[in-house]
Amino acid sequence: MTRRLGSGSLVIATHNAGKLKEIGALLEPYGVKCLSAGSLGLPEPAETGTSFVQNALLKARAAAEASGLAALADDSGLSVEALDGRPGVYTAEWAERQWFEGKPGRDWYMAMGKVEGMLQALGPEVSRACAFHCVLAIAWPDGESAVYEGTAPGSLIWPPRGTMGFGYDPVFVPVGRDQTFAELDPEEKHRISHRADAFARLVAGQFA
Ligand code: IMP
Repeated sequence: MTRRLGSGSLVIATHNAGKLKEIGALLEPYGVKCLSAGSLGLPEPAETGTSFVQNALLKARAAAEASGLAALADDSGLSVEALDGRPGVYTAEWAERQWFEGKPGRDWYMAMGKVEGMLQALGPEVSRACAFHCVLAIAWPDGESAVYEGTAPGSLIWPPRGTMGFGYDPVFVPVGRDQTFAELDPEEKHRISHRADAFARLVAGQFA
């Protein structure tokens, strides 16, 4: 039997205000009060795992141990079939620039171009299949945990299209659509995304 959260406080192991707000709104109907790792002064552990599950679990466990409360963490990224799942857990790192417009930052066009360059190097017949993944991990202070994995399968296009969304959205066309994630209405993207899938599984496992 999977351990259940019930109502009460849950630490969201993110220092990203946007994620905290989004997750808080999703869990509010179930009586869960979300606290942020940032507001509790919890440190951010290094993401040293080699899978989305490992990274989500290490972030959730660190927050649960430090706070003495149940904690939820997420990890997400893009896996490209022909690249053996890369960039995978390094999805954000592939956009890292030492200096970008005069300051350290992320260049998503560069990251999308890197993926495209590697695909093109494999020849014109290469599979363009890929998937966004999202893992949500809950950890309790006694060491127990639960993991929920969501995916959004699709394919990569080039050149990038669309101005909405973020990250690799302009090159990702979800299965069954013609538009990229960056061309779709954000509400539509949120209905079919890897995060929506993972949250549906978490709600089914924890609150159904
Ligand atoms: P993290 O889970 O916040 O570490 O995010 C990993 C990276 O995956 C992000 O920085 C994005 O580049 C990418 N990513 C995750 N979800 C999406 C999405 O919905 N669209 C585009 N890129 C995404």
